[in-house]
Amino acid sequence: MRLSELQTGHKAYIIKVNGSGAFRKRILEMGFVRGQEVRSILNAPLKDPIKYEIMEYEVSLRRSEAVLVEICMLAADIGKSGAADDDLLSIEEYEGNGAEHHIHHNSTQHQQVKNIRVALVGNPNAGKTSIFNLASGAHEHVGNYSGVTVNSKEGTLKHNGYTFTLVDLPGTYSLSAYTPEELFVRKHILGEEPDVLINVVSASALERNLYLTTELIDLEAPMVIALNMYDEMEQSGRTFDHKTFSALINTPIVPTVGKRGEGIPQLLEKVISVYQETEHEHVLIPYGRVLEKSIGIMEREIENSVTASLNMPLRYFCIKLLEGDKEMEDRLSGLQDNMPIFARRDKERAYIEKLLREDPESAFTNARYGFIAGGLKQTLTEKTQLADKTKLIDTLVTHKYLGFPFFFIFLWLMFEATFRLGGYPMAWIEWLVAQLGNLFRGNMAEGPLKDLIVDGIIGGVGGVIVFLPNIVILYLFIAFMEDSGYMARAAFIMDKVMHKMGLHGKSFIPLIMGFGCNVPAIMATRTIESRSSRMITMFIVPFMSCSARLPVYILFVSAFFPSMASLILLGLYAVGILIAAFTARMFRKTLFREDDTPFVMELPPYRMPTLKSVFTHMWDRSRQYLQKMGGAILIGSIIIWFLGYFPRDKEREARYEAQIAEIEMQHNTGAMGADERESLTAVIAHNRNTEHQENSYIGTIGKFMEPVMRPLGFDWKISVSLLSGMAAKEIVISTMGVLYTGDSEDQQSLKERLQGETYDDGTPVFTPLVIAGFLLFVLIYFPCIATIIAIKEEAHSWRWALFSVFYSTGLAWLVAFLVYQVGSLFV
Ligand code: GDP
Ligand code: MG
Repeated sequence: MRLSELQTGHKAYIIKVNGSGAFRKRILEMGFVRGQEVRSILNAPLKDPIKYEIMEYEVSLRRSEAVLVEICMLAADIGKSGAADDDLLSIEEYEGNGAEHHIHHNSTQHQQVKNIRVALVGNPNAGKTSIFNLASGAHEHVGNYSGVTVNSKEGTLKHNGYTFTLVDLPGTYSLSAYTPEELFVRKHILGEEPDVLINVVSASALERNLYLTTELIDLEAPMVIALNMYDEMEQSGRTFDHKTFSALINTPIVPTVGKRGEGIPQLLEKVISVYQETEHEHVLIPYGRVLEKSIGIMEREIENSVTASLNMPLRYFCIKLLEGDKEMEDRLSGLQDNMPIFARRDKERAYIEKLLREDPESAFTNARYGFIAGGLKQTLTEKTQLADKTKLIDTLVTHKYLGFPFFFIFLWLMFEATFRLGGYPMAWIEWLVAQLGNLFRGNMAEGPLKDLIVDGIIGGVGGVIVFLPNIVILYLFIAFMEDSGYMARAAFIMDKVMHKMGLHGKSFIPLIMGFGCNVPAIMATRTIESRSSRMITMFIVPFMSCSARLPVYILFVSAFFPSMASLILLGLYAVGILIAAFTARMFRKTLFREDDTPFVMELPPYRMPTLKSVFTHMWDRSRQYLQKMGGAILIGSIIIWFLGYFPRDKEREARYEAQIAEIEMQHNTGAMGADERESLTAVIAHNRNTEHQENSYIGTIGKFMEPVMRPLGFDWKISVSLLSGMAAKEIVISTMGVLYTGDSEDQQSLKERLQGETYDDGTPVFTPLVIAGFLLFVLIYFPCIATIIAIKEEAHSWRWALFSVFYSTGLAWLVAFLVYQVGSLFV
């Protein structure tokens, strides 16, 4: 029987996990091992994915993934006892094996140095960041490691005369080489060699959390366990004899309550004492007769070879080789005489498979869980209190009928707060920027420097900080969603829809936020773990028509089709969504074939996030936005300003100056009335602006591009407006204002001019086909440089950012081309 067939509310036992690669490995590590009890809790409102309970925590699987898990229902012959295979060691056998302890000598003399480098390792949602934030206070900085889109934070603190350098590593369930996070954590431990590891273990899902611990034990890293969420364990009425368990694995365990900071001083004390130990007896995880024999054989095989370069315990290396770990295989390929070792390894793998009737990967996972189960059997008591607020909340938020409305109300609130509420501070910022501009305008001598400062720099800085309120508010919500556990539920209910586009349930939120502004939306893709899904989401966010494009639509719709305004607007938004869906599917089939992480997603218990953690999260993001994007956006805005401002034609300027002087003179001598002076000056300003725009670099580029834009029915003025829209979409309108009316502000006369604009032969420029093509072009081509820079920052690559520019602009051209050319056949 398959897990997907298990009816809601029923329980069964796992026989075997089929499938391959990342999915299989992940699901095994998350506890889907032979003999485990699993219960089907509920279906998502769209019947897919399904929520299961295993090892006392909740996880969601897609139906297509659950099919790969073989189960059997409660039957007398295959019960829990069936799992007590003689290869899964029980605690008694472990005792017998205990003679195998070995001594690890710590060669470096720590005593003089007073700086301890500590890394926090643990499952997602175990409370690492909470402990990190409380321990390090405000002294942290966010490190970003190029190449991988994985973040780790570093902070320092002082305690008892020691300085601690804390690193908050990304959450992982294990240390295999399947996800970027896992590789990153393993590299950090092996490469940076922190003096002491703090393994943060959630007491609420002890069994699964300890899986990572067994891997860390194999790594023989000096370690202290923080038994976090201790308050939740106490509330549930169960007890855990952590002293005995600590003796069993010979690793100190300190109960903590991460969000209140309880137990942290004790934790640091233990870190100091582990640090001061010069030698430490490391426990070996017993893997059972068959596996131990293979490990032994491999150890002997490799010992003959060069092993000094490994910088990890030989036993660990052998275990990983036997498991088929890709990275370790690469390391082995680098060693001399690796052929016989590979041959031996393959032989041992075949041997394990034959004897244990399961592949080595599951055999090792089973043995680790067997060890944990053995240890917990004696130390952990059953739950007595059934205080399940999580189940209660989940019946509402993942309810068949109520789940979606609840989610959409939440989204609506988030959207309104981000963009409507955020609109006020945005207006204040714009006002402040304008005041600052006026201050300089009034107090500086005329000239390019003044224009650079006022229009280029102040305008550019304004362009950076106007987004800040949106980002701050959006991140307040996202931090709340992530910390409380609701984010996982939102992904859970949206997954089926998003999966149809080849995406993950978590892609939905960035896409929705894209309707407000693409920049924070692209920053929000960080919550998506799978790299391929995150990249695809980043590329399609720009097709969500952001609010800056709205004024352009409104101008044209109200000038030309006032009666069909809402229909056209709706159509544009819908086309954007369709293009996004089409792009996502196409990219999934071509550029990002593999889905690197499956949808095995933990649904953590609901927890009330602390204000402090939400604010730290929000503050981090805002600061990153300013630090990393601010500079680039500013430079981009200045470049575009520069292209529009230069070259200055002295002769032309002098001619206009002379005309104005002439009028002034006539006015002063009384030959001209004030009204006439006014209107003549306006005409001159108009001619001056238009002529300048036309001859500026942007104007030149626009004219140069005209042959490319001709097939779309666009004249050079339209091209120039689209070009200057690179800075921000609103600028399309102000450029059109200058080009058509000489005044960037006056929308009423712009409308009239657009309606009346004709070519030399009298045919109108703006035919319905041109307008349709133009609006679609504005919808599809990339929204602004800030978005492109956000993509660059999040994808860590200029290549992908440029790719997005070319893809969206190319597609915009193609669509406008088809509309104009095909349309011309019929009209
Ligand atoms: P991380 O994913 O390991 O970094 O986990 P976080 O530090 O983000 O914590 C996840 C959630 O658990 C947050 O809502 C925290 O406020 C909460 N939390 C952290 N430590 C504790 C604790 O000891 N007890 C309880 N009840 N909640 C905690
Ligand atoms: Mg964290």
